[in-house]
Amino acid sequence: MNKKTNPKFYQKIKARTVFISFVIAVALTSCTKNNDELTAEAQANALHQENIKNGRLGGQDITYERKNGMNFFQGDIVLSDKQLAGENSVDKGGASYSRWPGGKIYYTVASNMGSINANKITSAVNEYNSKTNTQWIPRTNQTNYVEFIFGSSSGSDGWAHIGYQGGRQTISLDQYISVASVIHEMGHTVGLYHEHSRKDRDQYISIQWNNIQSGQAYNFNIYNSGTDIGPFNINSVMMYWPNSYSKNGQPTIIRANNTTFTYNRTGFTTGDINTINTMYP
Ligand SMILES: [Zn+2]
Repeated sequence: MNKKTNPKFYQKIKARTVFISFVIAVALTSCTKNNDELTAEAQANALHQENIKNGRLGGQDITYERKNGMNFFQGDIVLSDKQLAGENSVDKGGASYSRWPGGKIYYTVASNMGSINANKITSAVNEYNSKTNTQWIPRTNQTNYVEFIFGSSSGSDGWAHIGYQGGRQTISLDQYISVASVIHEMGHTVGLYHEHSRKDRDQYISIQWNNIQSGQAYNFNIYNSGTDIGPFNINSVMMYWPNSYSKNGQPTIIRANNTTFTYNRTGFTTGDINTINTMYP
């Protein structure tokens, strides 16, 4: 179920706004930037590097980021400590081992979510319930469930635990998220990884390593321990977007034939639906 996500897909418009602000800020401050500021930048970068950890997932060595007490894999997939520690099959990450019993996923929505995001959740739930064999059902008193939380009103904060965890697990949404990106995060809950980390991806895409931000290259590693279902699908809702983690505005992912692609953030493709229904027959 190596479908791959795009943690940055819904940031594009916002990123443009941020970038404009950034340009203005740089113009205002570049003349006055002093050594203290440069040191602060270096310290922030060092802190990021300190949080980059090596671990094992499903028997494979992986790199992830430890942030806010959680383990982030490929940007927006949260791994439990148990998933990282376990070599027993029951503890392995991913849909092969962590599927929701009967395809039934009970959910709640945090009270501070706001009506706009709540409506997006309803739309995304309807997509799953009408097109896949998973059924998302409002929780009454179930012990095992997922809660949609409002992660942030500033900046990108979309992420989700991967697969069925047991107990309470979460999907975090921010105010910029689209319905298709809600579908993407719910895909992680169902057990999908990102399309770009499939074992066969190099036949279809080319990672542009020189365009990736410093310290983020590990997010483009192949995840061999996943199970690839169906053909590679560059239009998958679980695909990174072409400029994910770009340091220079140039694509970090292009097609293997060296042409660019446009990312899909409109919703499920047939391939996505077939993949989920193979996992949940
Ligand atoms: Zn993702």
